[in-house]
Formats: sequence, structure tokens, C-alpha cells
Amino acid sequence: MPVGKKILVTGATGLVARTAAEALAVHNEVWCLGRFSDAGTERRFQGRGIRTWRWDMARDGLGGLPDDFTHVLHAAVERGDASGGAGGDAKSAGTFEEAVAVNSVATGRLMTHCRSAEAFLFLSTSAVYAPQALDHPHTEADPLGTEAPWLPAYPVGKLATEGAVRALAVTLGLPTTIARLNVAYGPHGHGGLPVIHYRQMLAGEPIAVPHAGQHYCSPIHTDDITRHVPRLWAAARTPATVVNWGGDEVVGVRDLMTYVSELTGVPVGFRPSAVTRTVVAFDSTRRRRLAGACEWSWRDGVRQALRAHFPGAVKADPC
Ligand code: NDP
Repeated sequence: MPVGKKILVTGATGLVARTAAEALAVHNEVWCLGRFSDAGTERRFQGRGIRTWRWDMARDGLGGLPDDFTHVLHAAVERGDASGGAGGDAKSAGTFEEAVAVNSVATGRLMTHCRSAEAFLFLSTSAVYAPQALDHPHTEADPLGTEAPWLPAYPVGKLATEGAVRALAVTLGLPTTIARLNVAYGPHGHGGLPVIHYRQMLAGEPIAVPHAGQHYCSPIHTDDITRHVPRLWAAARTPATVVNWGGDEVVGVRDLMTYVSELTGVPVGFRPSAVTRTVVAFDSTRRRRLAGACEWSWRDGVRQALRAHFPGAVKADPC
């Protein structure tokens, strides 16, 4: 972990960046930017010495903010989902416009504001890859595409923002890493895919799966994400470094949720569908070289995350 740095974090009230922001705040000056829809989280941050700054990506809001940050972790995202979209429909033009414009403009403003930083880390997503065989281990060179029927505007917004990030990294001379995150999970926020699907199981809802086979992913615990952040800053370059950011293991979503069912005793049902929460497997060679290995195995990590979100839920401990 770095020491004595001045670090800006966005999206810290969410799942992915919260553990990192709090860990970094132990030995650094950390500023968290966001809307702080949940006032309790803002108070918790302030109690840990983190400075908070009200910032809505849909507006400017950076005037008056110090500009001498040494490192930036930009995790905030406007996903362009139905609730946030202008049209109220995940496929409406409004949601695409919002996902592209809000994310790319806000990121551009942030990079420009922090142009003197040593490193800027932008969180992209594995959803930017074009569909391949379900177990294909994607490298950074694999074809890009934007097919995400469950949230169509999301990868479009991410790809557009990746373009803005690449441009500004070069024009500003700001060393940057674009990290395409796989399935993240952990004790905070929405908990990630295993916890989201577990909530469905509790509600008696089946999990949508492909008609044949299963999706594979490379899940990563937020503790490992936190450990990797400083190394991904160290890997920042102009032009931007691009890296697939997932865990060390590949697991099928059916297998993962069957394990959750075994742990909790809650039955899991699967419903074949054309609209699934698509995830992909990663070839993690570049990430291992840049950021090192992970410490959590997915089974131990998922068990820990479930216990954090649902104390008492884990009944059994299958090997
Ligand atoms: P969450 O949905 O948990 O959190 C989203 C964050 O974005 C919140 O902190 C929210 O803060 C902030 N935010 C949303 N809209 C705005 C806005 N208009 N202005 C300012 N802040 C905003 O996201 P995750 O932690 O799951 O994801 C973090 C990043 O990682 C995202 O970029 C996401 O695309 C990427 N990612 C995540 C994956 C995962 O498995 N979770 C997988 C792949 C990529 P607040 O509401 O307080 O303003």
C-alpha cells in the first residue's frame, strides 16, 4: 500500500472501491467523490479520516476541489439502467445517450482536473468483449462488442468512456490504466453477482442461464482488488495500459450458485433464457504479471461475502 499520497476515489460508496478507499485511508490522504445517496456511508468515511466531496457525474462539480492528487481510482459508473435512463426503458435511446455522455464527459473532466497525477486507474468491464464460446478465456486482444441483453447501454457507455480515457491519457500525458473488471464480489454494497443471485434464490426466483451450457467468469474478491490497486497504478502508462482484472480461477455461474445453495440450504433454480447476466472468463496472464496473484479462492471468498451480507445464512461448509 502507498504511504503519504493524496488519493481521489470515485464510486467508493459502491461494492468495488469501498474496501480500497478505506484501506488506502490508513496511510494516505483520501478524498471520496460521489452523491452519497446513503448519508450513513459518508459519515462512516468521515469517521475514518476520509474527506468527502459532493459530485454528480451528470454535472460538473469539480470547481474548488484540490487538483494536486497523486493517484485516482475512478470506479463510479452510470450504468444506463431502466431506473436511471431518460426513457425508463433499458433499451431506450435515452439510456444509451446517458450512459455514453455522462460517463465519458465526467471521466474527461476528472482526468483533466487531475492531470498532474502520477496515475489514473479507470474501471471498465469484461462486458466490453464480443460474445465467444462460453468458456473462452478472453485476453485483452479479443474482439470487442457490446452485446449485453440484460443491460444494453452499459458496455456501450464503458467502451465510449475507454475511448475518452485513451485520448486524454495521451493528450494530457497522464499515466493511465484501463482495468476491465470481471465479476467482483465482497462484503459491501450490492455484494456482487453471487450475492445478487442469492437474493433471487431467497425470493424463489430462478436464475436466468443460457439454453445450453453455462456462463463462465473469473470472480475477484474486493480484498484482492484492494491489493492490486497500487500495482495497477504502478502499471499506468501513456498510452494507457489495458488489463483484464479478474480472479485467478475460472468458475461456471451454475456451479458457483449451486455451491451457494449447498452452503445456505436455499434451493437454486435455473431458467434457460436468451436474456442472461452475461459474464466471461479471463486469461489473467497480463494481470498476474502487472498486479500479482489473488489471495482469496472463490469458494472461501464467496462464503465470506455471504456471511457478511447474511449473518447466519451459511449453514454448511462443503469441501
Ligand atoms: P456500484 O453500483 O456498487 O456503485 C456505483 C458507484 O457509482 C456508487 O458509488 C455511486 O455513488 C457512483 N455513482 C453512480 N452514479 C453516479 C453519479 N451520477 N455521480 C457520481 N457517482 C455516481 O458499482 P460497483 O462497485 O459494482 O462497480 C464499480 C465499478 O466497477 C464500476 O465502474 C463498474 O462498471 C465496474 N465493474 C463492476 C463489476 C462488478 O462485478 N461489480 C464488474 C465489472 C465492472 P453514489 O450513489 O453515492 O453517488
